[in-house]
Amino acid sequence: MSKVETPRPIRGTQDIFGPEAEAFAFVVETFERVRKLYRFRRAEMPVFEKTEVFARSIGETTDIVSKEMYSFLDRGEESLTLRPEFTAGICRAFLTDGWQQYVPLKVATHGPVFRYERPQKGRYRQFHQIDAEIIGAGEPQADVELLAMADQLLRELGIADGVTLQLNTLGDGDSREAWRAALIEYFSAVRGELSEDSQERLEKNPLRILDSKDPRDKVFVADAPLIDDFLSGEAQDFFGAVTAGLDAAGVAWTRNPALVRGLDYYRHTAFEFVTDRLGAQGTVLAGGRYDGLMESLGGNPTPAVGWAAGIERLAMLVGERDAAPLDVAVIPLGDAASARGEGLLAELRRHGVCAEMDYRGNMKKRMQRANNAGASVAVILGDDELAKGVANLKDLIEGDQHEVPLGDLVDHVFGLLSRQGRGDQARWAIRRD
Ligand code: ATP
Ligand code: MG
Repeated sequence: MSKVETPRPIRGTQDIFGPEAEAFAFVVETFERVRKLYRFRRAEMPVFEKTEVFARSIGETTDIVSKEMYSFLDRGEESLTLRPEFTAGICRAFLTDGWQQYVPLKVATHGPVFRYERPQKGRYRQFHQIDAEIIGAGEPQADVELLAMADQLLRELGIADGVTLQLNTLGDGDSREAWRAALIEYFSAVRGELSEDSQERLEKNPLRILDSKDPRDKVFVADAPLIDDFLSGEAQDFFGAVTAGLDAAGVAWTRNPALVRGLDYYRHTAFEFVTDRLGAQGTVLAGGRYDGLMESLGGNPTPAVGWAAGIERLAMLVGERDAAPLDVAVIPLGDAASARGEGLLAELRRHGVCAEMDYRGNMKKRMQRANNAGASVAVILGDDELAKGVANLKDLIEGDQHEVPLGDLVDHVFGLLSRQGRGDQARWAIRRD
């Protein structure tokens, strides 16, 4: 038979394994811990939705909807789209599943999202986001809580240094409209000199020009009218309350008056956590207030604020991580010991001890692998020990060993691991009673 060719992975997708996968898992685990601390509820969303869910909420003139969506007709000729972000699907669920009863609803999720982009470092076609939203709260305290949560997450990931929070306000509906008109007037005067993309954005979505990376646009963006000249008193007060809350919570921020967000429905607070440690892909976490979004999906006016962060970019900042070391290696000598070893292994694991027993190999090989896996304790079990009802407990750090009765093995293992200062002693304490 001729050898068949192995299919290549899809461009812009990644297989993540080893130290990078450990960093990825660390990001997700830390996010899960922090969202519980802040009492955000978990939600699981479908990976695909009707295309209109994204088209209507994100906005037709955005990069995502105009050129990045993975849309397709299913076998029933319905246009579906792989989610390019979480917010739209969460809002759809909020409306169709009657989540109004929970407002203000703090909700968090994570998983894969899909965008047809030019793949490069930190930019993929399937990537992963963590996401947090507060729905049904128009108070600036909600913005503060979300930002404090993001800040704590970055601290607990150990990457807060070198990542700064850039903050802006887009004002309320009226402020934003006035600003928009001023931007159209300003950019219209130099229309011919703007990039093609920005010429197109000019009437439909002039705020997006401020976000352009094209050098032809950047010269004019530098002197474009700022939102500050158009902010209503109310909008100023709102922004003042957000910044005062951040100061009280000890969250550092800097004002970036040119910061806008890609989506059409942003109001008031807009923010990005940025770093210069990831080259061109410097935004790690971004979001803002989207008070107008729910209406675009046919819902009642519902203020909301949220953020999303790319797990791959956070994991790159975290850096490669080793898997947690093995605590206890069970080393049986002979078939009878191997069978008894299975029982000990199960008992240790049920008590929350990280333990492993190799499937094969002599004493020397097994000991070598235990050391390679970082084990600090070995439980050695031969025929003689078995006959006496004991095991040899070896301290792999100090090198000494002694016999302990099999009935008390778990306690002795706990004792030794504690003396070694190894692992999570609180965890063992809980499991023991
Ligand atoms: P960018 O300006 O980098 O394209 P964005 O404004 O499109 O970002 P958001 O829609 O705000 O990004 O998504 C939130 C976060 O998701 C980003 O801050 C980033 O960390 C991550 N992200 C966005 N697009 C990608 C991608 N293609 N690959 C990996 N991570 C991404
Ligand atoms: Mg983008």
